[in-house]
Amino acid sequence: MGLREYKTKRKFGKTPEPEPKERTEGDQLIFVVHKHAARNLHYDLRLKMDGVLKSWAVPKGPSLDPSIKRLAMMVEDHPFDYKDFEGVIPEGNYGAGSVIIWDRGFYRHPSVKDKKESEKLLRDGLKKGDLKFVLNGKKLQGEFALVRMRKDEKSWLLIKKKDRHASEVSILKENRSAVSGKTLEDVAEAGPRESFKQKKVKQIRLREALEDEDLKDAPVGPMPHNIKPMLATLVKKPFDHPDWIFEMKWDGYRAIAEIRDGDVSIYSRNRISFTQKFLPITDALRKLGFDALLDGEIVVVNDQGHPDFEMLQNYQKSGSGHLLYYVFDLLHFREHDLTGLPLLRRKELLKKILPSSPKIKFSDHVLKEGILFFNVVREKGLEGMIAKHSQSAYQAGKRSRQWLKVKARLTQECVIAGFTEPGGGRKYFGSLVLSMYDEDELKYIGHSGGGFEEKDLKVIFNKLKPLIQKKCPFKIEPETNTPVTWVKPELVCEVTFTGWTEDGIMRQPVFLRLREDKPAREVVKEN
Ligand code: MN
Repeated sequence: MGLREYKTKRKFGKTPEPEPKERTEGDQLIFVVHKHAARNLHYDLRLKMDGVLKSWAVPKGPSLDPSIKRLAMMVEDHPFDYKDFEGVIPEGNYGAGSVIIWDRGFYRHPSVKDKKESEKLLRDGLKKGDLKFVLNGKKLQGEFALVRMRKDEKSWLLIKKKDRHASEVSILKENRSAVSGKTLEDVAEAGPRESFKQKKVKQIRLREALEDEDLKDAPVGPMPHNIKPMLATLVKKPFDHPDWIFEMKWDGYRAIAEIRDGDVSIYSRNRISFTQKFLPITDALRKLGFDALLDGEIVVVNDQGHPDFEMLQNYQKSGSGHLLYYVFDLLHFREHDLTGLPLLRRKELLKKILPSSPKIKFSDHVLKEGILFFNVVREKGLEGMIAKHSQSAYQAGKRSRQWLKVKARLTQECVIAGFTEPGGGRKYFGSLVLSMYDEDELKYIGHSGGGFEEKDLKVIFNKLKPLIQKKCPFKIEPETNTPVTWVKPELVCEVTFTGWTEDGIMRQPVFLRLREDKPAREVVKEN
């Protein structure tokens, strides 16, 4: 194919991509997989052959599951130097968008290790439309095949062969560059500075917001510090109402953000700081360029766009998933206290001032139709929705009936009060003894032996070990079939369950996850 097509599609000087240069020898057989956020997100698999990179665009990305066949569209050959390309292809250029080196390493033919021999067999495979190869990268390992489909020359299938590297776990969860450790969003943000046009748009948007009639109704005053967010009351059923709006209930950490003179402080319901913990969000907020007090939820979404609480809890360690701050309320903006304005007007202003940013999102709503919205939320397996009165003022620190939450699943936070011995081949513990506060008293509400993944058992056990105490934390010791090791009631977890018995015990509680963001003392019955 050569590099002619590559050359004609691009204007060098306008794009940072490398100029075409063919390499004839030397260099080992390398492969690279680019993750490329162009018009559509896709992965580009590139194999070095005959001095260039043979390339396929894989819309859904590679899979390690041998039962999955991924479409791979053959595209133009890329120059060998493209193996090092990571960055932003500016707007107006071919393939505009950000690119990371998602994976890189060496490859060979499965039956020979010698480079020359390998290259010959690979070349034959490519010609025949049946290319078998072994990858040795940071993420992709083991044998794969690219098989040309009958319908046309360009359509191929990328298939993982059965071997010890095969797995049903999605490798795409690992979303960082194999070279720089950056995500696509990191690269996009570090890309070209705001253009003159973007700056202008931002200024106009802010000026319009300042001239807004609503802002004139809002009293001027200093921004409050360390506020507690307004909370919603749990209700059982969704409803329709012309005066209410409906938002997604995000499965993440509630987070207040103060932006003051370019300083950003983000904190939880209990004023635990998130400023350092979620630095990409802090940095994105700093770039907003105005003073504001925001209320929202920090989430990590997976590649399907679903919030994933476990990914959020592990975010600092794993970096997996996409970190986002969904902002749903604007409490203070450029010296104006907006908490007394009707919610809908606060949200209109918020929408006006929030620029489109990869990390900061406006949490949108639907009007009136709560039941329809709830059905969609439940079908998608999401946590639930929040109904808010469209004219409501913001009442910091209050659990209000102007904000209602409807859960798609029945869940309860519990304080872990003890555990039982493991049995039947399991390690660490058998079940957890669960409790919650009723007024000032810790009450037993059941025990759960299900829902734990192998790794949960160890993590939980290690957190409980230092809390072990002789004394039962309940006033009246509950009756149990097996002896219980009591712990200091500190660690909070969340369970799903099917209902309450008349004695206030949960039916069939199943462990969901730890909730280390919640203090034990605040765990009460959720309705
Ligand atoms: Mn591409």
